[in-house]
Amino acid sequence: MIEMKSVSKWYGATQVLNDCSVKINKGEVVVVCGPSGSGKSTLIKTINALEPIQKGEIWVDGIAVHDRATNLPKMRSRVGMVFQHFELFPHLSVADNLTIAQVKVLGRRKDEAKKRGLQMLERVGLIEHQHKFPGQLSGGQQQRVAIARALSMDPIIMLFDEPTSALDPEMVGEVLDVMVGLASEGMTMMVVTHEMGFARKVSNRVIFMDVGGRILEDTTKDEFFGNIEDRQPRTREFLNKIL
Ligand code: ADP
Ligand code: MG
Repeated sequence: MIEMKSVSKWYGATQVLNDCSVKINKGEVVVVCGPSGSGKSTLIKTINALEPIQKGEIWVDGIAVHDRATNLPKMRSRVGMVFQHFELFPHLSVADNLTIAQVKVLGRRKDEAKKRGLQMLERVGLIEHQHKFPGQLSGGQQQRVAIARALSMDPIIMLFDEPTSALDPEMVGEVLDVMVGLASEGMTMMVVTHEMGFARKVSNRVIFMDVGGRILEDTTKDEFFGNIEDRQPRTREFLNKIL
């Protein structure tokens, strides 16, 4: 579903991704962790070309993202993205937030888009809030709306960038529950998170990135958590801090 081959990226003279190669198969859930500034957000943003790369190749479902000739809006519409900050439109109702991109990007009819959006709102357990505005919802509810909005576009993969790290602790669980549900239904997911409970429960693989934008480890979940003494020193140091 996703293949990154020797991807490197610089901001000016600073290298932020260093020869990163990642493969994600259909239905896999891959957790990306690592210290702040190691390039996790940048890595995930290159997948739907929100950040350009200078070297390497990125393929999403057979589409060459690194190729200038690729129709990026069309490719992006198939990749769901959920950020730390929910980025809902504050002046639109929940229902309209769920509908607008389907109409504008996918060209769906408004009634059809609304039906799909409300199905997804139901799925994240918030159907009764469809007429509210984002500001009337809690952070956890807003993040669930953001997930429903991404799902309304019928994505082939979902990318999450620290979806729970801006939330009050009591709201983390409700968002993780939605993500666990998605994973169990077979959604392909790449998740930047430090929620190691989530990683242990649902991921297939864990990637550890280190400062300088290098992928230091890419291993099965069982290996990652089962044999901590076999991990790289930098990974152990990181895990000791967060576990
Ligand atoms: P992480 O998500 O792991 O915390 P990021 O991908 O956000 O890391 O950042 C990786 C590195 O790139 C950091 O050193 C950060 O300061 C730098 N960086 C991120 N965005 C920009 C930008 N727009 N311009 C210049 N440097 C950036
Ligand atoms: Mg980040």
